[in-house]
Amino acid sequence: MKSIYQTNFKNQKVLVRVDFNVPLSFDKKVTDNSRIVAAKKTINKIINDGGTAVLMSHLGRPKGNDPELSLSHIVKSVEDVLGKPVVFSKQTIGEATQQIIKNSKPGQIILLENLRYHKEEEEGDNDFAKKLSKLGDSYVNDAFGTAHRAHASTCVVAKFFTKNKFAGDLLLKEVDSIKKVIEDGQKPVLAILGGAKVSSKITIINNIIDKIDKLIIGGGMAFTFIKAQGGKIGGSICENDKLDLALSILEKAKQNKVEVCLPVDVLCANDFSNDAETQICPINQIPENWEGMDAGPESLEIFKKVIESSNTILWNGPVGVFEMETFSKGTVAVGNFVSKSTSSGAFSLVGGGDSVAAVKQFNFSNKVSYVSTGGGAMLESLEGKTLPGIKALEQ
Ligand code: AMP
Repeated sequence: MKSIYQTNFKNQKVLVRVDFNVPLSFDKKVTDNSRIVAAKKTINKIINDGGTAVLMSHLGRPKGNDPELSLSHIVKSVEDVLGKPVVFSKQTIGEATQQIIKNSKPGQIILLENLRYHKEEEEGDNDFAKKLSKLGDSYVNDAFGTAHRAHASTCVVAKFFTKNKFAGDLLLKEVDSIKKVIEDGQKPVLAILGGAKVSSKITIINNIIDKIDKLIIGGGMAFTFIKAQGGKIGGSICENDKLDLALSILEKAKQNKVEVCLPVDVLCANDFSNDAETQICPINQIPENWEGMDAGPESLEIFKKVIESSNTILWNGPVGVFEMETFSKGTVAVGNFVSKSTSSGAFSLVGGGDSVAAVKQFNFSNKVSYVSTGGGAMLESLEGKTLPGIKALEQ
């Protein structure tokens, strides 16, 4: 896979797949511009080389040409982030768009209308991809968040650029950070898996179990393991059809000499609410009608030792119901341990879904090595799948 830093885009029209699928307020203002900020380095590299950046993205899930989901709403935000004017093309493809691009000057930025106004985008349609390919001399994919989709703009279009296709800065960083954990991880390598369900993490566990040295299992998914081992978990969240699976994971960990840390105590509540009554219980002796909501103090002491003695850390999933303040302390503590370990030289990657939200909410983003921007794409990478968007750049 070639990187944008291995070429010069001078005088080229560069078709760039970005992920500008940003949240909009009711009056169509961008409420979180982090995805636009994340694409800045790639766009700047192209325009600083003297190329034209032709940006394409999807926004939401429009049914046809839904004006509510027009990318015109985000033009101002893109201009603010880049500090440069942006020309908006009302059509995604076609004559008028080609004309705008043809007339553009080196260093200009053009933003195309929502790719998903065309149903062919998600279908991965060959003709639509071919039409997109007419809009650039080179193709850059910087949309890691959609790299797990075989859509026209994320995957199929790449085949029309035999040589001139490149990975953008963000996509490279995401791929590198996974590699730093899964392939080149400095031992001891630790995975902290939390969140609600074992079932959503099983493929990840299977893929990483022979690549890690330690595994912390926290959050709601821990109860399936505790029950499988004969513990009483009261009304805690549990996947009863995954008890055997939990035991087989523990067995597999043993075979691979992976040290598994399950919580030993838990903050329980008599109701799934922030104002519920609480008590600390041994994890395997939770009374009926009480449910485990957050890691207990003894568990956190164990997690602390394990985290602070690891050189590579992957964190996916909160260790408690962090959305409720009363049950957020375990996740905050884990964030602190990971931050401390990082400041002592460990590489830490936070990826996939709610752990990313937690890290942002509690301001750990700058204290860990890398926070992934690609939820589903990150999870699929951790599951060991080759992402179609990345494969297309490699072929
Ligand atoms: P996931 O998307 O699988 O990472 O799950 C994240 C969700 O797991 C968050 O919404 C948490 O509130 C939830 N979660 C974490 N710990 C628990 C728990 N002990 N009981 C119920 N839900 C939990």
